Amino acid sequence: MKLTELTLTELRTALRQGETSSVAATEAMLDRIVAADNNLQSYLTLTDEMALEQAKAADERLANGERTPLLGVPVAVKDIICTHGVPTTAGSKILEGFVPPYDAFVVQQLKAAGAVILGKTNTDEFAMGSSTENSAYVTTHNPWDTERVPGGSSGGSAAAVAAGLAYAALGTDTGGSVRQPASFCGLVGLRPTYGRISRWGVIAFASTLDQVGTFGRTVADTTALFQAIAGHDPNDSTSLDVPVPDFEASLTGDIKGLRVGVPKEYFIEGIDVEVETAVRTAIAKLEELGAEIVEISLPHTSYALPVYYLIAPAEASANLARYDGIRFGPRVTGSDMIDSVKKTRALFGPEVKRRVMLGTYALSAGYYDEYYGRALKVRTLIKQDFLNVFEQVDVIATPTTPTTAFKIGENVDDPLSMYLQDIFTLPVNLSASCGLSVPCGFDKKGLPIGLQLIGNALQEATILNAAYAYEQAVKS
Ligand code: GLN
Repeated sequence: MKLTELTLTELRTALRQGETSSVAATEAMLDRIVAADNNLQSYLTLTDEMALEQAKAADERLANGERTPLLGVPVAVKDIICTHGVPTTAGSKILEGFVPPYDAFVVQQLKAAGAVILGKTNTDEFAMGSSTENSAYVTTHNPWDTERVPGGSSGGSAAAVAAGLAYAALGTDTGGSVRQPASFCGLVGLRPTYGRISRWGVIAFASTLDQVGTFGRTVADTTALFQAIAGHDPNDSTSLDVPVPDFEASLTGDIKGLRVGVPKEYFIEGIDVEVETAVRTAIAKLEELGAEIVEISLPHTSYALPVYYLIAPAEASANLARYDGIRFGPRVTGSDMIDSVKKTRALFGPEVKRRVMLGTYALSAGYYDEYYGRALKVRTLIKQDFLNVFEQVDVIATPTTPTTAFKIGENVDDPLSMYLQDIFTLPVNLSASCGLSVPCGFDKKGLPIGLQLIGNALQEATILNAAYAYEQAVKS
């Protein structure tokens, strides 16, 4: 048994049956990280000592017959999620050296589930980006082709899981930052419904869009991690006080009669032919498995990109106002208080500055109604499109991204082409639906392609099961 090749669920079974130990699995992962991560740069911080202590404790609990959901399983956490006593930078120099005095809700959940935390993974600065090239520290490489990006902003988590440097990982998805890197790295990435998981301790980017999501190599792995972290928490007033279903039990693989909508607006000019072919073939497979395919229309799709790039920067400009060098992270001392704040805020990278400026402009007196106010109205129309469609279908199937992974440096000087990466993922966030990306083949260069499945609010079980049915049917 090669420990690093096991899936999360296989490892969980092996641990429960006493066939291996959490210490052995954790050591195997740490060795592999040391061997491979110099080339990939998926981790920003390794918590190896803490991980080995957690693994030892997990082995004792396993020996005592304890069976918490992730007991002894090594996972990784995106560096935008606060971890008690462990540096958390959000990929930014403005938080260099910041050590949170508490764990985010999702980290508390991981610990309660018995998981072992291997370290913190690279991210675009404040999760703004689609390639991890906006990280102030390192650029992560795609394990399928190291000249290419892993996607972003949760590219560190995606690369780590794809390369076998973690059994699963947490990311965040404000506009596609879990699904797009999952697609580029051949993983299953889930963006749950807004409010499904408390965001307490997740560094805020755009508060009406942010949500934690999960990466795994299989649907079952992604589901197991999601199951462990989902839930309400009074510390986050936007988290929904609704029961958390048994998602793992809902993976039956039976999708007979499932109504799958295919929106014509998502198969547009500019989409890579190989991506379109793979996605259409995957949709045909769903039909073969008993789903009913329905052509649908989401007429306001073309507005999603401009609406997102007004709302997200507007919210970011408000959220990032708190980084003034007084409360968190480093301080650059200037001639007086204002000068110190200015000099400290110059630590933000170019993409963050661009968004703060765009957002401040969109919110400023005289432009608020014209930009921000209008964007909110169009957002309502986009949401209504989804609500209408979900009266006719259970799931919407689309490509996750218009292309496969692009080369490092290819889009970095062209913000618009970088923003176009998100064209198929953003509407999910704007409409408060849930979505996932599941691998559906490769292009001629051998790069993974992703099928996006979208569900109505709180219908994660439906999309996970559809993805599971597909995965089982095509698995070699
Ligand atoms: N790529 C998008 C952006 O740059 C989405 C990022 C995200 O989901 N965090 O805003």
